[in-house]
Amino acid sequence: MVVNRGERKHGIVRRLSMTAPNGKKVTVPFKNAEGMEFAGYVIERKITDAVFFNAVKTEPNITVIENFPVYSVTKDATGAVDGVDGTASGSDEKKCFKSRVVVGADGAASAVSRSLGLPNQPLGHVFSAVRCYYEGVIGLSEEIELYFIDSVLPGYLWVFPMGGNRANVGIGILSSDLAARKKHPNVIMAEAIKAHPALAERFKGAHIEGRISGWAIPNGSYIKKCYGEGWVLVGDSASLVDPFSGEGVGNALMSGKLAAQAIGKALSQQQGDGPLPAESLADYSKSIDESIRPEIVDSYRLQRLTRIRFLLNLFIGKAADKPEIRQVFVDMMRSDKAKKTVRSPLFYLKLLLS
Ligand SMILES: Cc1cc2nc3c(=O)[nH]c(=O)nc-3n(C[C@H](O)[C@H](O)[C@H](O)COP(=O)(O)OP(=O)(O)OC[C@H]3O[C@@H](n4cnc5c(N)ncnc54)[C@H](O)[C@@H]3O)c2cc1C
Repeated sequence: MVVNRGERKHGIVRRLSMTAPNGKKVTVPFKNAEGMEFAGYVIERKITDAVFFNAVKTEPNITVIENFPVYSVTKDATGAVDGVDGTASGSDEKKCFKSRVVVGADGAASAVSRSLGLPNQPLGHVFSAVRCYYEGVIGLSEEIELYFIDSVLPGYLWVFPMGGNRANVGIGILSSDLAARKKHPNVIMAEAIKAHPALAERFKGAHIEGRISGWAIPNGSYIKKCYGEGWVLVGDSASLVDPFSGEGVGNALMSGKLAAQAIGKALSQQQGDGPLPAESLADYSKSIDESIRPEIVDSYRLQRLTRIRFLLNLFIGKAADKPEIRQVFVDMMRSDKAKKTVRSPLFYLKLLLS
C-alpha cells in the first residue's frame, strides 16, 4: 500500500522481516507497548528533517541562523567553553556567539566535539553506512526487510519500501570489519544484492536513482564524554546510536530533551553570566546512563551475538517455525526490557531444545 501526500509517495510499513545468513526468514508485525499493531512510514530524511526544522522556526523564543557552519568552540580565560565561532556560507566574515552553554548537536562529524579535542571513536564502534534509492524493485510490500549476510555481519543490508516500486536500500557494516575486508561498501552492497537468492531476481530490472551516499554512524557501544565546562553533546555527536539496529533518531531526540532538562536546572541554580560549571551539568550524563545506556548495552550484546552465524541462523530459524520464539522477537521490538532476554544462557538452552 502507498500513501500519497500531494506529489510525494511514502511507503507504509506494518511488519519487519529478518532473513538469516542461511536464507531462513521470520516476519513479525509492529506492535506497541500495549500489544496493538501499528503502521510506520518510510519517508525521505530531508522531508522529516524539514518538518522538525520548520516547527522549530515557529517558536517565538528561538532564533534560527541558517547557512552558518560552526567552526569551533571559544573558551574563556579559565578554559571553559563560552561560545562558538564560524563563518557564514559564501562570506569571509567570521562571527562569534557567546553563551553560558554550548550544545553540540552537529552529528557524527561534530565540529564541537572535534574542537573540544575529544578522541576519535575507534573503528570497532563505528558503522560505515551506504544508502541509495532504487527504482524498479519488484516484490516490495508493507515490510521493512533486513538481511543478515556473511559479507556484512555484524551489520545488515536493508530494503525499505518507499511507495510504488521505489526502495531505500543500504548496508551498515562495522568500520573495523570494512577495513579488514578491503572492499568499498558500494561494492559489498552491489555484490550482496546480486548474489542473494531472495534479492537477485527482484533487483534485476531496478536502477539506482542519483548516487550512493555514505556516512559514518557512531555507535553507543563507545562511551563518550558528553559534558564539561560550558558544554554538552547530544545525539550522534555524543555517540548514542543503537549498536545493533543503527537507529539514532530516537536517542538523539531523547538526549536533546535530557540535556534541556539538565541545562534548565543548572541555569536556575547558577547565578551570573559565565559558562555553566561541569558539575552543574553532570545530571545530564547521569540521565543518559539511566534512560539510554541500558538499551545500548543490550543492543551491543545483540550485535556481538550476530557475529556467531550459527546462533543467528538458529534464532531466526526457530522464530520462523515456532510462535513462542517469534513472540520473543515481537517483545524485543516493543520493549527495551525484553532485550534483556539475550543475556540469559537459559534462553539459548531453550532455543537449542525447542
Ligand atoms: C544511511 C543511514 C541510515 C540511517 N537509518 C536510520 C534509521 O532508519 N533510524 C534511525 O533512528 N536512525 C538511522 N540512522 C542514524 C540517524 O540518522 C542519526 O543517528 C541521527 O540523525 C542523529 O541525529 P543528530 O541530530 O544527532 O545528527 P544529524 O541528524 O546528523 O544532524 C546534525 C545537524 O548538524 C548540522 N551540522 C553539522 N555540522 C555542523 C556545523 N559545523 N555547524 C552547524 N551545523 C552543523 C548538520 O547539517 C545537521 O543538520 C541512519 C544513519 C545513516 C547514515
